[in-house]
Amino acid sequence: MFHVEQSNKTMFQDKYDVIVVGAGHAGSEAAASAANMGCSTLLVTMNLQTIGQMSCNPAMGGIAKGQIVREIDALGGYSGIVSDKTAIQFKMLNKSKGPAMWSPRVQSDRMRFAEEWRLMLENTPNVDFYQEMVAGLIIENNVIKGIKTSLGIEIKAKTVVLTNGTFLNGLIHIGEKQFGGGRAGESAAYGITEDLVKLGFESGRMKTGTPPRVDGRSLDYTKMREEKGDEKPHKFSYLDSSKPLIHQRSCWMTYTSETVHNLLREGFDRSPMFNGRIQSTGPRYCPSIEDKINRFADKDRHQLFIEPEGWNTVEVYVNGFSTSLPEEVQFKALRSVVGFEKVKFFRPGYAIEYDYFPPTQLKHTLETKLVDGLFFAGQINGTTGYEEAASQGLMAGINAALKVQERDPFVLKRDEAYIGVLIDDLITKGTEEPYRMFTSRAEYRTLLRQDNADERLTPKGFDLGLAAEERLIRMNHKFNEAEKMVSFFRETSISPEEANPVLEIKGSSPMVQSDKMYKVFSRPQIDLEDIVLFDKVKEYIAVNGLDEETVEQAEIQVKYNGYIEKERNNADKLKRLEDVRIPDNYDFDKIKSLSYEAREKFKKIRPVTVSQASRISGVNPSDISILLIYMGR
Ligand code: FAD
Repeated sequence: MFHVEQSNKTMFQDKYDVIVVGAGHAGSEAAASAANMGCSTLLVTMNLQTIGQMSCNPAMGGIAKGQIVREIDALGGYSGIVSDKTAIQFKMLNKSKGPAMWSPRVQSDRMRFAEEWRLMLENTPNVDFYQEMVAGLIIENNVIKGIKTSLGIEIKAKTVVLTNGTFLNGLIHIGEKQFGGGRAGESAAYGITEDLVKLGFESGRMKTGTPPRVDGRSLDYTKMREEKGDEKPHKFSYLDSSKPLIHQRSCWMTYTSETVHNLLREGFDRSPMFNGRIQSTGPRYCPSIEDKINRFADKDRHQLFIEPEGWNTVEVYVNGFSTSLPEEVQFKALRSVVGFEKVKFFRPGYAIEYDYFPPTQLKHTLETKLVDGLFFAGQINGTTGYEEAASQGLMAGINAALKVQERDPFVLKRDEAYIGVLIDDLITKGTEEPYRMFTSRAEYRTLLRQDNADERLTPKGFDLGLAAEERLIRMNHKFNEAEKMVSFFRETSISPEEANPVLEIKGSSPMVQSDKMYKVFSRPQIDLEDIVLFDKVKEYIAVNGLDEETVEQAEIQVKYNGYIEKERNNADKLKRLEDVRIPDNYDFDKIKSLSYEAREKFKKIRPVTVSQASRISGVNPSDISILLIYMGR
């Protein structure tokens, strides 16, 4: 046991503003945001080699997740910059749908991603680092005072952000074998759950899984379909210093087959999923291969995406083949996949069970309701995914800093950001299975697009002292120029001679007299990307030196203005309920006419506005009408 007083004096400052426990995606963003907001920050993690480690697939973004990375970037977080610097392939998913659905995704270089995170953090003033397991928390009278490490060192802090990911009492399963671990090759963390449960926190168990990694040199790519990146790749970060990729690496696609399924079935009796060893709930939308075979028995094949793990490694990730079957069953089955006949393993797939804390125990700031100054972010809150974790880390770091600085909390609303939807869902509805973001979870997804995260959030990030002024200037310039371009379209006429060649190609009826460009571009046959086909538009872009992002913004405003306006109006109407606040410690038992279920849920979740109350499952419109009356409306 260390002599605590002595060691503290030499090793750490007396009291940190913020201690962040864990340096995964949540912890790294939390440390960066708190430090960039001027707080003395200590990042304590079990292994400094694994800062920003991608536990599962080497990719960032994707449907709804890509929007989250853009939002993190717009606020001044690091995930977008790190992702751009370490990408090996870029794709804008859903490009054939409306811009509300466009979702950026990169394939990442796993080792470079972690390296870049560490470099970024090392270059962030106010961040101290320490490698050790945090084994407990110092809490006095329900106020956080600091942490205790496994060596017995006590480190004091005004606030603590817990981002333990899959490590709390983590248990790894491969077939019938099971052993403690937070990730393959890393030990589990013990002590924190027990401390918190003693204080009255409720905890639960969840599980997740990952596929085998294989040697790319042993694969026959000639038998697979090549999946190239976008011809004109975009990027995540709004900063001009972040550059789109010039060269890209391809991914590949192949399929499982009946033979593969039969070989996998041979191991089902030893599968921890099916023999009752794993009881906890896994991510429904990322099922294991054994789960897919079981649930979709009529399907004779499943897609597998073969993803390189980086620029300079032969290791390959077998996306779609997540499994916890015995390693020899995984291997035998994989050898029957087309292109994998000679496959060599780097690492087998596995499943992991871990503790989480139902997130209804949190406030919108991600501070716990039970312990003042203690924040939770990431997988510890029952979410899954790097992006979900990173965004919570950012918000917890911001709010921890604001608390230290005695400033107002920072909460994003559901019509302002996917991050707002994520946190509101978690704390209002809770989650019984690993929560991942989807566009369908956002009621205002036309407002929450990947192209306008800077407009929505950069001014807020700037006011917080997080987003640099450069971001604000860039954002203002882009939207001013886009607005001018839309005005030009509204005010300027286009003649039939100028418009008809394009209208003809697009199958739109020819014009007989001049009309305003805006009206012509609003025709349903003219798609978003067709606007730049008109010579007059090309000329405007050249004369004004506009970049692609600005032009795209103007195009979106022309083609989607109606939808955007409608959604804005709906969101504004709902604000009425958002403004009706429910006093802290309100006695819901006073309202006898509430349904039993609504009253019990209100007492447990303690909504802070009538709007939040209305989103709690089991609460019906009549409960809300009654609540409004009691709130004086
Ligand atoms: P993590 O990335 O897990 O980071 C936790 C950090 O905390 C680590 O640095 C760890 O060392 C540190 N730490 C933990 N406890 C302590 C302690 N007591 N003291 C000091 N440091 C501590 N996501 C998906 O979206 N889809 C998937 O299919 C998927 N599959 C997964 C499969 C596996 C096997 C695993 C492990 C994860 C999977 N994930 C998946 C989840 C994804 O990895 C996480 O959602 C994401 O990494 C969570 O980020 P986080 O920051 O919350 O935690």
